[in-house]
Amino acid sequence: MASQTSPSPGWAIEKYLGIENDRLSIHGVDAVSLAERFGTPLFVVSAPRIRHNIAALLEAAHHHSRLKLCYASKANNLLGILRVVREAGIDVEVNSGGELFRALRAGFEPMQIEMNGISKSEEELAEAIEAGIYTINLDSPFELELVERVAARLGKRARVTVRLVAGVGTRSHAALQTALYTSKFGVSPSQAREMMRRALAHPELVELVGLHIHVGSQTPDPEPYVEAFTAMWNHLLHLYRETGHRLQHINIGGGIPVNYLRDRSQAEEIESGERVMLGASLTAAEMMKQTIETVRATAVEAGAADLLDGLEIVMEPGRAVIADAVTLLTTVRNQKHRPETGENWLLTDAGYNLMLSMVMYHWYYHAVNGSRAGAPSTARFRLAGPLCDGGDVYFDLHGGHHLPDCRLLPENSQVGDVIAMLNTGAYTISQMTAYNGRPFPATILVEEDGSVEVIRRRDSYEDLLLNENI
Ligand SMILES: *Cc1c(COP(=O)(O)O)cnc(C)c1O
Repeated sequence: MASQTSPSPGWAIEKYLGIENDRLSIHGVDAVSLAERFGTPLFVVSAPRIRHNIAALLEAAHHHSRLKLCYASKANNLLGILRVVREAGIDVEVNSGGELFRALRAGFEPMQIEMNGISKSEEELAEAIEAGIYTINLDSPFELELVERVAARLGKRARVTVRLVAGVGTRSHAALQTALYTSKFGVSPSQAREMMRRALAHPELVELVGLHIHVGSQTPDPEPYVEAFTAMWNHLLHLYRETGHRLQHINIGGGIPVNYLRDRSQAEEIESGERVMLGASLTAAEMMKQTIETVRATAVEAGAADLLDGLEIVMEPGRAVIADAVTLLTTVRNQKHRPETGENWLLTDAGYNLMLSMVMYHWYYHAVNGSRAGAPSTARFRLAGPLCDGGDVYFDLHGGHHLPDCRLLPENSQVGDVIAMLNTGAYTISQMTAYNGRPFPATILVEEDGSVEVIRRRDSYEDLLLNENI
């Protein structure tokens, strides 16, 4: 490596996140100036980082060239973000009629769209069938019948995939695990064969095109993917031998993790299981390599290598596309010292209304003082949001050390400083609420050359009243 004059902090990312004139810079744009120009809270999206993340995910194609990436739009479904994703050349996964509407509005072709959903309405299914999307992932035998009824009514054939539950655990949060028999998702293996036979019995109504398992979000290890893929492969092979029907795809779901602990200065303050999960580094390419190597061995043994080669493998990355492409800028609005505990508090204008995972899953977002990014972060501050709720804090209120008790920031951090919450692209904007009458913030998109575009304007007070009758 070329000689570096000063070591850059762990959170920095070359040509994207760094320090200029002692302040945080995003693609060379001064974060504090952005905060002044657009107001805070403010979500700042890096279009180049989204493209970088997609390119990294596409490296999985080295191990299986027929790869279809469907961005899990529930992670962040702003039109401006969907547009960048679409222009990067990948497809999209939707979880409701509303997300289907957004995907179509963002310009995705119907065959680029696949739909999941645990509790789809007849209307949503009709919208998907009418549009002629790539596939509807069926969550139960009941839903197969419902799709057949809707397809018959519309006089259109639906492409369907059976979503399996595989009894596969991961080292992530209980609520982020979706392939356990105790989870609410998917069709049990004991029911899957009968369900596939039933789907094949009505070829004029449904075309059975694939199998799907989503093991869960922020999955740190490849093993659950290997297990899930093997389970689907065995079903596929059995179906082929029994009926001659060739499934077109296997969908391995999302869950490729993001390293939220690039900066490890406070990692040791986080409980160890959580630390492993938040600091995961599994790549899509590594996951695919291990999965394909294992399954290829079985396929060759079974004389079915061509079946595997002909298969389209679908992945549904959400977090891995968008999480580290977004920075939430928030201003310190109040400060206090508590003589009884000796603690210093900083109160920001962004709470769990914008970072719901912070309280729901104790999710760690690294904090940087954007106004003093060049100063050493050596002082401890209790950080909290603006909401009228004692739970709106940036630490683990229950003392379980899922989050650090205090954040390390520069000594003289104070009112007026702009704090940057890093890696806040996934499950933030798409989960935000207007609790406490707080209008939704603006979101801006920054390009490589530092040009800036507002992709969602800040809500006004009038917007808070939308659809209300007096
Ligand atoms: C949420 C979800 C995803 C995306 O998960 P990430 O962890 O964000 O990659 C993919 N597939 C399904 C079915 C999901 O529910």
